[in-house]
Amino acid sequence: MERVGFIGLGIMGKPMAGHLIRAGYPLVVHDLNRQAVAELAGLGAQAASSPREAAEKSDLVITMLPDSPDVEQVVLGRDGVIEGVRSGMLLVDMSTIAPATTRRIYERLQAKGVEALDAPVSGGEIGAQEAILSIMVGGTGAAFERALPLFKLMGKSVVHMGGPGAGQLTKACNQIMVGVNIQGVVEAMALARKSGVDPAKVRQVLLGGFAGSRILDLIGQRLIDRNFQPGFKVKLQSKDMNIALQTGRELALPLLATAQVAELLKALLARGQGELDHSALALLFEEAGV
Ligand code: NAD
Repeated sequence: MERVGFIGLGIMGKPMAGHLIRAGYPLVVHDLNRQAVAELAGLGAQAASSPREAAEKSDLVITMLPDSPDVEQVVLGRDGVIEGVRSGMLLVDMSTIAPATTRRIYERLQAKGVEALDAPVSGGEIGAQEAILSIMVGGTGAAFERALPLFKLMGKSVVHMGGPGAGQLTKACNQIMVGVNIQGVVEAMALARKSGVDPAKVRQVLLGGFAGSRILDLIGQRLIDRNFQPGFKVKLQSKDMNIALQTGRELALPLLATAQVAELLKALLARGQGELDHSALALLFEEAGV
């Protein structure tokens, strides 16, 4: 079995790393949050004090970090993964970051004889806990096959999308659909409520029709329950919409609906509501008197 380094033990990374330990993989873990490291050590993982040390003690390193600068710092920065790698190793970044950053990291590691995969996920905290994530993977076919046994322990639907960056590109597509769909549900529910039709009944009947979706199901229920506890935070949704917009700009592709929802998310951030669930897009409407 390969020795696995796992860096980033947050909402998603902690349960994902737990699945690998339970399957018998020797794990070396690192996080700035020492308590998260201690929890994984309690399950049998070895603690590393830096990304470099985690790489030195592994054959394959997984990262699950918040944003592009975090992954860049952990992989390419001082005491980073790149300082501890040997030729023949594999980096699997499962964070959601910009495809351009992914490709930069890929090239830097290639120069050291190290392969890299981008393998962002969809399915949220529950998907991570229950090992039913959707995993969208970019990189070479050989690297994909090497990481597949690990992916199968963390996810249900695992697809090789193409070369480096193709996984992140797919995740950007996912986040466009999530953001724009949420705004659609928010506006429909606001219209129903303002005109005196019960939003709960609107959700109920429309779930069986053409507009039925997981977003109408889960976000619709949140709006009815007034439950804005995360879930998926406004600040992460905002990061992901910006990744989609930036990628669109690099391809000279204007993403109009994405831009509108990104602006609304920025307004929520400016109001100090970045820690709320992304369904909090509804709050902007309510304050406008809708
Ligand atoms: P999180 O903030 O809960 O966890 C991130 C972890 O990384 C934290 O434990 C933090 O201490 C650690 N960290 C940050 N910088 C570090 C550094 N320099 N060195 C070492 N450790 C560092 O985030 P999360 O919700 O687990 O999300 C991780 C990634 O997965 C993000 O890119 C997110 O967009 C993506 N994602 C999240 C969800 C979700 O529902 N939470 C769903 C799909 C994808």
